[in-house]
Amino acid sequence: MERNRESAGVPVTAIGQDSHRFAAGNPSTETRILKLGGVEVPGHRPLEGNSDADVVLHALTNAVSGLTGVNILGPTADRMCADGIVDSAAYLAEALRFLEGRLLHVSISIEAAVPRMMPLFPAMRDRIAGLCGIDPGCVGLTATSGEGLTACGRGEGISVLCVATALLRPGLPPPGLPPSADPPVS
Ligand SMILES: [Zn+2]
Repeated sequence: MERNRESAGVPVTAIGQDSHRFAAGNPSTETRILKLGGVEVPGHRPLEGNSDADVVLHALTNAVSGLTGVNILGPTADRMCADGIVDSAAYLAEALRFLEGRLLHVSISIEAAVPRMMPLFPAMRDRIAGLCGIDPGCVGLTATSGEGLTACGRGEGISVLCVATALLRPGLPPPGLPPSADPPVS
């Protein structure tokens, strides 16, 4: 019984977080497009950042790093960004490359006042599921404005928490390096 459970993998859960502020400047001359969970949201101010500033995929990437112990946001993503790779899906793919096991589920909690998140969720769920190689039913998405108690809840930016659960290959050393102290790619 014990052996069967071990051969199935070791369940591990990790958390990731990220926040970005909305870009300042004139929205009518802004050429970048807001991107959330790999989905473009036209007609809205984008988030500030050197990459596409996809705060949802960044939180998810950090959660995967929490599973693997290999941090991607920071020097690695900065290097990719400097090489012209600004699609955050590439950072997530890089994080998943170190996952020795099977991702089971991700739960994403977004704090924002704008844009309205609910209409975006079906496309975000499909896109995230595709990027992670899991069923769309294994991607949880919630959003709140938190009664406007924080800057993100008042519409100055977006903050995201993500919890990822995986079955890791048995016999691996435990993950759990803390998130990098290096300044993250933004
Ligand atoms: Zn970020």
